[in-house]
Amino acid sequence: MSQILVFNNEVAAAVEAIVDEAKPNGLFIITDTNVRREVLPSLAEQSPAVARACVIECEPGDEAKNLRTLSEIWSRLVAGGCSRSSLIINLGGGVVTDMGGFAAATFKRGVKFINIPTTLLAAVDASVGGKTGINFEGLKNEIGVFREAVAVIISTCFFGSLPREELLSGYAEMLKHGLLDSEEAVDMLLDFPIENCDEPKELLQLLKKSVAVKQRVVEADPHEHGLRKALNLGHTMAHAMEGLALKTGSHLAHGYAVARGLVADLVLSHMKHGFPSERLHSVAAFVKSRYGAPEFTCDDYDTLIQLMRHDKKNIDPETINFTLLAAPGDIRLDSTATPQEITAALDITRDLLGC
Ligand code: NAD
Ligand code: ZN
Repeated sequence: MSQILVFNNEVAAAVEAIVDEAKPNGLFIITDTNVRREVLPSLAEQSPAVARACVIECEPGDEAKNLRTLSEIWSRLVAGGCSRSSLIINLGGGVVTDMGGFAAATFKRGVKFINIPTTLLAAVDASVGGKTGINFEGLKNEIGVFREAVAVIISTCFFGSLPREELLSGYAEMLKHGLLDSEEAVDMLLDFPIENCDEPKELLQLLKKSVAVKQRVVEADPHEHGLRKALNLGHTMAHAMEGLALKTGSHLAHGYAVARGLVADLVLSHMKHGFPSERLHSVAAFVKSRYGAPEFTCDDYDTLIQLMRHDKKNIDPETINFTLLAAPGDIRLDSTATPQEITAALDITRDLLGC
C-alpha cells in the first residue's frame, strides 16, 4: 500500500485530521533537540494533539542514528505505555525519520507512524519511500527494514530555521529528481531562487513534483531490485567523495557531495550516452555557483576509484556501476565505466567546478 502524502503548509490542521481519524491509543513524538527547540513549540501551540503527545527527544546528527539511541527510544516507548494501537510522529530531519521509522516498525512488531520532515532533504527524500534504519559498526544504514509511514506531511514552513548548508543539501536531491524526470523539471530547478525563497506556495509545488519522481520510482520497485537504482544518480561519486573527506578529516555535507557527483555523472553520461553538452554545462554552472569547491583537494583519483569499487552495488571488479542518463528523464541503469573513463570524467568535472 502506498503512503498518503499530504502537501500542506497548515501542518497542525493536517496532524489534527490524521489523529482524529486514527483515534490512537497514545501519541508519541520522536524528535531531536534542535527540532524540539526550533519547531515543536509553535506546532504544539497550534495542535492540541501535539501538545498532549509524549515527546521522545534524541541527540541531533547522523552520529546519533545508532543502536544506543534506538534502545533509548524503545525504552521510552515502553515507559510511555506505547501499544500497537498507538501512533508515532517522527518530527525532524532524515535522522529522525529513519531511526523513528525503524523504532516504530520494530516496536511490538510494528506501530503505525507518520513522518513530518523538517529539513528539505527529509521532505524530498528520506521521509518518503519506506527505507528506515540505523548505522551500525561504522556502516551507514546497515540495519533497517522497509516500512512506509502511514502518512507524510510535507511542508515548507519549517525551512526558515534551516542553515543554508542544509537547505542546499536537500536541493541537490531535488536536482537529482529533476534530472531523472525531464528537461522542464531541470529548467525549473535551475531558475528557482531556493536561497531567497519568499514564495512558500511555489516551493511546495516544486516539492510535490520532486517527491512524485521518487514516489513513481519506489512504487515501481519498492525493494530496490531494478528501477530504484535510478535514485543512485550522482551517489556513487558522492559516497566516494564523502569517504575521501572522512579520510582527510574534512567536512563535506551529503548534498554537496551529491551536487558534485551529479556533475561527474553527467560528464560520464555525455561520454558514454551522448548526454547533451549544453545541459551538462548549465547544471555544472549552477552547482559551481551554489555549492562552491570542497575544502579539501579532491584530485586523489586512486582513492576515489578505490572507494567506488567498494560500493556494494558493484559486481564486475574491472568496471564500476553507475546510473547514467542519455538526456534528462532518459535513464540508463547499470551503466559501467572503467577506471580510465572515470579518471577522464573526474578531470573534466574538476575543470568545470574547480577543486
Ligand atoms: P538531519 O536529520 O541530521 O538534520 C540536519 C540538521 O538539521 C540536524 O542538526 C537537525 O537537528 C537540524 N534540523 C532539522 N530540522 C530543522 C529545522 N527545521 N530547523 C533547524 N534545524 C533543523 O539530516 P538530514 O539531512 O535531514 O537527513 C540525513 C539523514 O537522512 C541521514 O541519516 C541519511 O542516511 C538519511 N537518508 C535517508 C533516506 C531514506 O530513503 N530513508 C534518504 C536520504 C537520506
Ligand atoms: Zn542522497
